[in-house]
Amino acid sequence: MEIQKTKKEWIAEGEDVFYKTYNRFPVVFERGEGLYLYDTDGTAYQDFYAGIAVNALGYGDPEYTAYIKEQADKLLHVSNYFYNTPSIRAGKKLTKAAQMDKVFFTNSGTEAVEGALKIARRYAYDKDGSHDHQIIAMRNSFHGRSTGALSVTGNDHYQEPFKPLLPGIRFAGFNDLDSVKALFNEKTCAVIMETIQGEGGIYPADRAFLEGVRALCDQYGALLILDEIQCGMGRTGKMFAWQHYNVRPDVVTVAKALGNGVPIGAFLARGTAASAMVPGDHGTTYGGNPFVCGAAEKVLDIFESRELTAHVEKVGRYLWKELEAVKAKYDIVKDHRGMGLMQGLEFAVPVGPIVTNALLEQKLVLISAGTNVIRFVPPLVIREEDVDAMIGKLAAAIESVGR
Ligand SMILES: *Cc1c(COP(=O)(O)O)cnc(C)c1O
Repeated sequence: MEIQKTKKEWIAEGEDVFYKTYNRFPVVFERGEGLYLYDTDGTAYQDFYAGIAVNALGYGDPEYTAYIKEQADKLLHVSNYFYNTPSIRAGKKLTKAAQMDKVFFTNSGTEAVEGALKIARRYAYDKDGSHDHQIIAMRNSFHGRSTGALSVTGNDHYQEPFKPLLPGIRFAGFNDLDSVKALFNEKTCAVIMETIQGEGGIYPADRAFLEGVRALCDQYGALLILDEIQCGMGRTGKMFAWQHYNVRPDVVTVAKALGNGVPIGAFLARGTAASAMVPGDHGTTYGGNPFVCGAAEKVLDIFESRELTAHVEKVGRYLWKELEAVKAKYDIVKDHRGMGLMQGLEFAVPVGPIVTNALLEQKLVLISAGTNVIRFVPPLVIREEDVDAMIGKLAAAIESVGR
């Protein structure tokens, strides 16, 4: 029998074995129930970050959990040499929700971005057989940590130690249409951007910007790749954030909430982009296996049966109103941005100490986005009273660090 370890001991052991790429919060979570996480001491924490916008249904949703248990008993994995029924069902539902023609299932967000970039390269190569085409990406963006995704992530701090990265990437300013226009030329094969910049600090694309980029892509025959890994899957009150705008992307990346905690991502494409890659061009061993696709299939079912997007729209509006009041009350809060249940409060100071000390003391889990922004990406099933509970703890935390 294992002797009961203290939190301190667990953390020391973790630090001993893990490759040190994270500074973790000093909490060891053991289980989750509904909208609360429980640490090894049995302390409950209100969850308002959803495992970084992943746990859309909260913890232990009975319908979801029963379904993935059943699938675990039936079949976990067969590889893509064979068909499997959960992936076909999930694929049909996801392509329909995303208004796309084809889907490829991946194991993560960054792999979805890799696939999208390969579509862009392949699409351009098919046109003129050359290797000198360019991709426009945005400053302050985040697309993942694998080398291709890192190459389009507009963050010097993340990129610098790992150069040289992919050639042919040019960076424009997000919401600065002129800066995009200035980079466009006949060698431009794609623009990649988040519809709402997440890690960069919760910046939604302006309508004129996104629609203007779409028009430039059409003018030059370039693909518009929208990274909806964080802002997609109902988070903004529509299945995908671009559905608030008068645009449709050619390629979309999805992950985070798609599996509600089971690791799955996807890239989707339509039109010419949907047939740019051919057999032999791309593959994965795990991607799209019956277990993870069973999870995605159930998540998509639940979105429909519980009308989650309408729910997010409503609770998102309530969260907006409450956070506006917080902004009005505290001078330290400078700005408030976002859509649906993806919102950010920008502070006059770095929020690291607030998030890791003051908020944890209130038994509330929130995370930052960028240096000065607290990010609100709760489970999509929260109710107005959960917002009220969160606001009370947030206000107490702000007061404890001084307004
Ligand atoms: C989280 C995220 C990614 C990377 O996803 P991983 O699953 O961590 O690889 C890519 N793009 C955006 C917009 C994200 O928020």
